[in-house]
Amino acid sequence: MAQANLSKVHPTLRKVAANLPKVSRARGYEVRVTSGYRSYATQKKLYLDYINGRSLYPANPPGQSMHEKGLAIDVVSNNESDTVALLTSIGLIWAGPEDPIHFQMPSKTAVGGSGTKKVAAAQVVVTPAKKKKSVAKKILSAASWVPGPIGWGASILDFIF
Ligand SMILES: [Zn+2]
Repeated sequence: MAQANLSKVHPTLRKVAANLPKVSRARGYEVRVTSGYRSYATQKKLYLDYINGRSLYPANPPGQSMHEKGLAIDVVSNNESDTVALLTSIGLIWAGPEDPIHFQMPSKTAVGGSGTKKVAAAQVVVTPAKKKKSVAKKILSAASWVPGPIGWGASILDFIF
């Protein structure tokens, strides 16, 4: 698969993509970001591959993908459940088992915004019934989520911010 195009993705996703390999390695597994920004032409090719049975992973029709807006990344992992837990804990939306590698920004952040604080805040807006925690509390719980070797705290904070 071609190198993911991360130059045109949302700054938060770019940071997540840059730090995720290090964070996942510290947690004992490997990830690879396989897709970031896609042009209309690329999306069209992936969609045709999918509907013609040449790709395992679903692709929306061209013009209808969050990848074309720079608001989604695809992450292949050999520990899917932990990857999902990690990325959703910082506010990204997982597409679910139908498209298990797809993670995207909450729709409320579609225009502007950068940084996980806004992602987390937007998540609260998107699902008010489920997410009542303050941003600070959310970040604290993510930072202390998994015990690890000395230095872990620093790397998870790098990841979050
Ligand atoms: Zn995707």
